[in-house]
Order: sequence, then structure tokens, then C-alpha cells
Amino acid sequence: MALEYVLSEKNKYMLIYHGFLHVKEREHDNKTYWKCSEYKKIHCKGRLHVVDDKITKFIEHNNHVPNAAKIEAKKVISILKKNASQTTLSTHSVLGNAVMQVTSAVSAEMSSINTLKRTIQRVRQKEEAAPANPSNFEFIIPDQYRYNSNGELFLKFDSGPTESRILIFTTQQNLDFMSECDNWFCDGTFSVAPPIFAQLYTIHGVCYSNVIPSVYVLLPDKKEKTYRHMFEILKSLKNNMLGATSHPKKKFTEIEQLK
Ligand SMILES: [Zn+2]
Repeated sequence: MALEYVLSEKNKYMLIYHGFLHVKEREHDNKTYWKCSEYKKIHCKGRLHVVDDKITKFIEHNNHVPNAAKIEAKKVISILKKNASQTTLSTHSVLGNAVMQVTSAVSAEMSSINTLKRTIQRVRQKEEAAPANPSNFEFIIPDQYRYNSNGELFLKFDSGPTESRILIFTTQQNLDFMSECDNWFCDGTFSVAPPIFAQLYTIHGVCYSNVIPSVYVLLPDKKEKTYRHMFEILKSLKNNMLGATSHPKKKFTEIEQLK
């Protein structure tokens, strides 16, 4: 039988077994050690060892009984949170759907209606709010910020979590357009870059008299080496990007110099 999990209030996995809840203690090789979720409160010695999704050892819970209602309440809250994040139903409806068939034993294990309403609102605010500005280069970019609204990949390049991190945002269509332009205008903006980056570098393609911003790059500094690296990456994203053969006259013009 597959192991059954439920999410805690803090979105951590809890393992359900014989009516008891367990939280992860540690992992070693392919073995995971779980301890009773009440270990702190009542010093319960209940433990589980799991290898390849199978329980290999169960140490009895010594000073409490299983609580099915508590587990059921956690499951209801999990569903409530999921519906809050994945549906556009009103707070009232999300709450109604979640608690509709709950027994009185289960509802006794649940928070008050007002607390549940706040949980729904909190989940939704978190979904809508953009993540905070990162304080170092070791951040992960959520999928919703990697793709544009058409579902196309927009984060075309990410050098990874290093001090010299470079992020290039553009689409394939923009790269195709850029490779057809004889001139590019490039401009570094320093004030709008997130704090850990030195600048937001924008590359515009010039088509007839139109100047179209097509590539946005977050750069860690203003060194020549970094600019060279960035153009090397762009070249690798699109064949003939810098068109040595097809566009011999292609020039780069720093907008700053034009002003
Ligand atoms: Zn226990």
C-alpha cells in the first residue's frame, strides 16, 4: 500500500501511519527517518524508518492514542489550501466546500471559521505577490517567471547560482527578429535592476525606423569581460545572431553615447 502523506500548516510533508502523524527527522542514503509529530510536546518515542516507499521499522508511540480526527482535519485543510490556490471560488465557497462533510469530531480538531478564512486569504496573497527581491545569487526562479503569458520560454538563459550570474530574458521570436536587424541599440539601466544585480541591460533591434526592445539581461557588474560573455551567450542562443556573414554592417550603439 502506498504511503499516505498530508501537508502541515507550514507546508511540510507529514507521514500518516496507523493513525499517527510523523514528521521527517533525517535522511541517510536511501533511508528516511520519521518521528512522531508530538515528540516535542509529549516526548513520544514513536518512529518510522522508510526505504523505497516502504516502512521497514515501526517503533510504537508510547504515550498517546491514534487520532484519526486530527489527521482528517489536516487533510481538509490541505484541500482547502489547494482550492484557495487553484480556483477562483470566493473565500466563502472554498470554506463551504472544505467543511461541508466534516464530522463534529473532525471540526473539533480544526481552527475557527475566521482562522480558516484568514488561511485562504493568506494562501491567495502569497500566490499573487511577487517573491521578495533575492539577497544573494542562490535563488530559484519559479516557473511562472520563466515563461511569458503565451507559454513560451522567456528566461532563455540562466548561468546558475554564482556571483557572476547572468539572466537573459527574451523569446525565440525576438531572437529571430534581432538576427535580421542591421543595427542594435544597447542600453544599461542601473536604477531599476534588483539590488544584487548591477544593471538591467536592454538590447533593441532596429528595423526601418523602429527601435524595438527585444532582449533583457540582468548583469552582475559593468566589466567588459561580462559584456563579452553576454554576447557570446546570445550567439549561442541563435545561429548567425551577430550575422558575420549575412549582416556585415551590424553595429552596436550604446544609447548612452547618443544622448
Ligand atoms: Zn507519538
